[in-house]
Amino acid sequence: MKMNMFTPPPPRASGLDFSADLSDNICPVCSGPMYPLFGAGKPYAMCKVCRYMAADSMPGAGAEIESLGVVREKNFTRIIKTLKKKYTWANTILDVGSSHGVFLRLAAQNEFTATGLEPDERLAGECRNSGFDVVTGFFPEADELAGKTFDIIIFNDSFEHIPNLQALITGIKAHLGKKGIVVVNLPNSDGLLFQSALLAYQFGIQVPFDRLWQKGFASPHLHYFNTRNLKMLFERHGFTQQENMPLSYYLITGLWRRIRCKASLCVSIIAWLILTILYPFFCVKSDCFASYFTFKNEACYE
Ligand SMILES: [Zn+2]
Repeated sequence: MKMNMFTPPPPRASGLDFSADLSDNICPVCSGPMYPLFGAGKPYAMCKVCRYMAADSMPGAGAEIESLGVVREKNFTRIIKTLKKKYTWANTILDVGSSHGVFLRLAAQNEFTATGLEPDERLAGECRNSGFDVVTGFFPEADELAGKTFDIIIFNDSFEHIPNLQALITGIKAHLGKKGIVVVNLPNSDGLLFQSALLAYQFGIQVPFDRLWQKGFASPHLHYFNTRNLKMLFERHGFTQQENMPLSYYLITGLWRRIRCKASLCVSIIAWLILTILYPFFCVKSDCFASYFTFKNEACYE
């Protein structure tokens, strides 16, 4: 099968200069001042105003975390149910970062016409071999997307991996139809797990926080949002929030493999015990959410 050439992503996240003390950097969400989260020299920054966070990591492609299928299937089913119920006119979907094709399969089962966009050529090829329509490339640069629009653009755990937020929003506008909806499903910096890891980092335990950012992975997280600053980002660019729902960040089923695939045995045992015992607490303030946005003045619902 023919693989398409695509433009590689820019070299750094958010255009922030981590080599300095960040004092000259402004927040890409609210234009507030950024500061080094744990002091100079650490690879994390936060906005003093909206609490948007960025990491100094190299963007890339890949799906290294195992055993995400169960939790993704649960979350995607909820997202699709809402799309079917509230946006009955919408049919075409672009799934940015379609990975193993779980969302593409569920969308097809619910009679949507879905196209995947996946930078990892192996994953894109596997999905094409399973009969799905998948373009190889990064969003929004992929050549095969040129001139195409969709009723729905969805980012399932992919928004936080894309470097340039301005180019990302511009790309969404370019590829949304007039009545388009964008759904962003991503980790939440207000989540109890993230806040616990943030606290642990301040006491010198860096592993959980680095792991949540997927530091050192082929495709690390470059941004961390909460419900407020994600809404602010889209509203500043003329979108209107329609829905906001908490989603499951993890389930006990598959948890061991998910941790063990990228951690030592000792760390895995400790992490699994903590996440299993404290599972009910981590569900109360979830580390994952989905927001639905439409363009201002162009939303028109039946
Ligand atoms: Zn900000």
